[in-house]
Amino acid sequence: MKLIFLGPPGAGKGTQAAIISKKLNIPTISTGEMLRAAIKAGTPIGLKAKTFMDAGKLVPDEVIIGIIGQRLEESDCKDGFILDGVPRTIAQAEALENSGIDFDRVISLEVGDEAIVKRMSGRRVCAKCGATYHMESKPPKAEGLCDECGGELTVRSDDKPETVRDRLKVYHSETEPLKEFYAKRGRLREVHGDQDMAAATKAIEEALV
Ligand code: AMP
Repeated sequence: MKLIFLGPPGAGKGTQAAIISKKLNIPTISTGEMLRAAIKAGTPIGLKAKTFMDAGKLVPDEVIIGIIGQRLEESDCKDGFILDGVPRTIAQAEALENSGIDFDRVISLEVGDEAIVKRMSGRRVCAKCGATYHMESKPPKAEGLCDECGGELTVRSDDKPETVRDRLKVYHSETEPLKEFYAKRGRLREVHGDQDMAAATKAIEEALV
């Protein structure tokens, strides 16, 4: 299965991708997470990406196309993968298509803007392993600590409400057109993301059949 999870920031792509990844035994590839790791490691790509990310802007296509192309060549991707947060522009989608990848499904998680702004204020991310939590819908077992690795839970620097609104604007102008791109290819399935986590997972599984 080669899947793409589309949707605005905070729609639940990462959370749902983690669940579906485990069930299908395929990796989730998140360019956002790869970039945050690059920033943490202080690599040239990380340094370049940081200014765009902090401003809620997209990192240039050539950077993304480079890192995703390399990642998909790794052996764990041979039986399939879930792309979370990539492609985000038509240019990225075309680059993936030109590299010969035929996606089985593109799941678009639909959540309205105001619900997103509200959700993002409760989001927490493990500083060590990147696992995501939400203070209301998916709280950690021990306050402030990751269930998976015990790492410290932090607020992402681009989850501030003003940045979230900028990211939503970018989503509508740059990423939402991908729905039409994949609908034309018969791959798009829209799923309501504004329901509880288990119901959204079930709806995604139904869309994969
Ligand atoms: P995410 O974790 O997917 O929400 O990504 C966080 C930030 O990383 C985004 O707001 C962008 O600045 C950058 N980013 C991640 N993936 C991409 C992508 N495919 N294209 C451009 N920028 C990206």
